[in-house]
Amino acid sequence: MMLKIKCPECNTEGSMSLVEPDYEGPYRCWKCRALFTITIKKNELKSWEPLDQEELDKQQEIKAMQDKFKRGG
Ligand SMILES: [Zn+2]
Repeated sequence: MMLKIKCPECNTEGSMSLVEPDYEGPYRCWKCRALFTITIKKNELKSWEPLDQEELDKQQEIKAMQDKFKRGG
């Protein structure tokens, strides 16, 4: 399902597709490029945490490593 998300920085409405009604992860505003970690519970936006690019890179690096590990190297 598609969820509408309004950027707290510039009030631009964006949307993201959710596989599950709960989500916690990065969101980037398509307009002002602001980065956030958002928490969604039951298709409702619960919280915004500012996220910097460095932090996102780190998270993606960890995830990539975990994926690699799961595939067996
Ligand atoms: Zn924005």
